[in-house]
Amino acid sequence: MSDPNCIFCKVIAHEIPAHFLWEEDETVAFMDINPWTRGHALVIPRNHSTDLLEISEQDLAATAAGAQRLARMQKERLGCDGVNLLNSCGAAGWQTVFHFHIHSIPRYEGDPLQLPTRPQQVDQDELAKIAAELRG
Ligand code: AMP
Ligand code: ZN
Repeated sequence: MSDPNCIFCKVIAHEIPAHFLWEEDETVAFMDINPWTRGHALVIPRNHSTDLLEISEQDLAATAAGAQRLARMQKERLGCDGVNLLNSCGAAGWQTVFHFHIHSIPRYEGDPLQLPTRPQQVDQDELAKIAAELRG
C-alpha cells in the first residue's frame, strides 16, 4: 500500500512538505513543485501503484474523478480558460515519479505552453494494420 522509497508516499505521510488541496481516504491532491502554469496540481491515490498499467480500477476511477475536481477548482477559483490532464506512464513516456498521478494543468489564453510534437501523417492501410495489431 505504501513504498518507503517513494517521494509521493512520503508526501502522503507528511514526511516531506507539500501544499495540499485535499487529503481524503482515497486520494490526495497537492501543488506541483515545478508548475508548468499557474495552479498546476497533482492528484494521486493513497495506495502506492507504480503507474497506469499497475493501478487498480478502483484507484484509477477515484484519481480520475479527483482530476475532474481539480480542473473544476482551477476553472472556478483561478479563472483558467482550459485544462490539460496528463499522465505519464513509464520512463519512455516521461514518467519521473513512479507513484501513479494525474497532472491537472490550467491553461490560459495565450500562455506559453506548446505541444512538444507535431502530429504525423500516416496512410489508411498503415492505420488499419496497427488497429489489427492492437485488437490482437
Ligand atoms: P511525471 O514526470 O509525470 O512523473 O511528474 C512528476 C511531477 O511531480 C513533476 O511535475 C514534478 O515537478 C512533481 N514533483 C516531484 N516532486 C514533488 C514534490 N515533492 N512535491 C510536489 N511535486 C513534485
Ligand atoms: Zn508511492
